[in-house]
Amino acid sequence: MFVKNVRDITEVYTDTQLSSTDSVRLAALKRLCLLDSPVDPSFDRLTRLAARLLHSPVSLVTLLDHDRQFFKSQIGLPEPWASQRETPLSHSLCQHVVRSNAPLIISDTREQPLVQHNLAIRDLNAIAYAGIPLVTADGVAIGSLCVIDHQPRTWTQAEIDTLTDLATSVMTEIELIDAHEAQRRAEQQIALLQAQQLQDMAAMNKKLVELEQVKSDMIRVAAHDLRNPLALVMGYSELMLEEGEELAEHHREFVTSILRSGQKMLSLIKDILALERITGDPANNYQTVNFRLLAHEVFETNRDHADIANLSYTFSADEGRAYNLNGDPGQLREAIENLLTNAIKYTPAGGSVSVQIHDKGDFLLFQVNDTGYGIPEADQERLFQAFYRVPTDETYKIGGTGLGLHLVKNIIERHGGKVTFKSVYKQGSSFGFYLPTTS
Ligand code: ATP
Ligand code: MG
Repeated sequence: MFVKNVRDITEVYTDTQLSSTDSVRLAALKRLCLLDSPVDPSFDRLTRLAARLLHSPVSLVTLLDHDRQFFKSQIGLPEPWASQRETPLSHSLCQHVVRSNAPLIISDTREQPLVQHNLAIRDLNAIAYAGIPLVTADGVAIGSLCVIDHQPRTWTQAEIDTLTDLATSVMTEIELIDAHEAQRRAEQQIALLQAQQLQDMAAMNKKLVELEQVKSDMIRVAAHDLRNPLALVMGYSELMLEEGEELAEHHREFVTSILRSGQKMLSLIKDILALERITGDPANNYQTVNFRLLAHEVFETNRDHADIANLSYTFSADEGRAYNLNGDPGQLREAIENLLTNAIKYTPAGGSVSVQIHDKGDFLLFQVNDTGYGIPEADQERLFQAFYRVPTDETYKIGGTGLGLHLVKNIIERHGGKVTFKSVYKQGSSFGFYLPTTS
């Protein structure tokens, strides 16, 4: 069957005002980013196929901008149009396909009133024309796939069907690009959001660091300011006890009680300052430390306390190792001291405290074993929490603030180590830690 002038169009589109369909089309083209995009082999394959199957010298994928037609792909156009990849609307037959969103099939353009004055006839030698609209999934015609012949011809229905199939393929390509573009935009959006989140987190972190600094400063100032008046209170209390012979017995008890409370406060301030020093100062004073020497030194400084408490007191270390490690000697001293004073404090007279260093390959194991009061199993999981003191009769009456073990854990973990303990109520305890060594 031969088709001639499938559409009988009489109206020539001459108005330059943008209609609402024009706006919708231009928005769709903008979203697709196809205008002025580079030559794409997948579109060229389809125009080549159209030209070959329909035996036409020219085939175009045209996109209709508001004042020009842009060729996403072209086969057989003369220069300068081939290189420019566009013509003004004065040379566009495709505009009629797009604006009517329907195929336009013309056997002889010179006889068709709609297009007979179109400059494509003169400049592109467009005598026979067949164009199929390129329509998006939501029904917007954005361009056309067309073939042009330089002489009059009647287009067969089979040819029009082939061209329609190829136009569908062109649209599939365009939709692929659209999907790809949408994905790219979504990824860009996600990347932007992530960058924003990172920025927010960095700002929050900065704020936290600042707040942490303010908190540390406040604690340090408050603790120092408390220490001086406290020293005065304790000094005068001691003086009154030493020199106040005429003090009544109950006054003497009051002053003794003031002195004891003062000592408690002083030890609390000392612990808080130590904790603050460790947790508030990330730039620790790291250096090579001979752990065996350090531990032995701390062991010796506590010997008097052990003697006064009437305890057997021993130190041993597996031989053959230097026990050097990278650490902050002040903090490590604090950790050893805390475990040692606990063992001495919480072991009744006649018991024993033994300090041991074991060689564990890349690690050392430091242990302080005692035959003291031990800790009931139910209390063991809270031992390392700040201010936790085991509420047994034996240990609770002994002075302390419950910060020592918390400090030890903090220090050891900062040094890449791990605390360890074992305790049996009324039998004794073994507290210690693993630390990575360098030799
Ligand atoms: P300080 O802050 O002065 O050290 P503290 O000794 O009470 O006070 P931690 O060293 O943290 O605090 O110990 C917490 C609790 O664990 C202690 O109150 C004590 O009850 C128990 N404890 C610690 N070491 C031993 C030990 N070797 N034997 C028995 N109980 C212990
Ligand atoms: Mg303690």
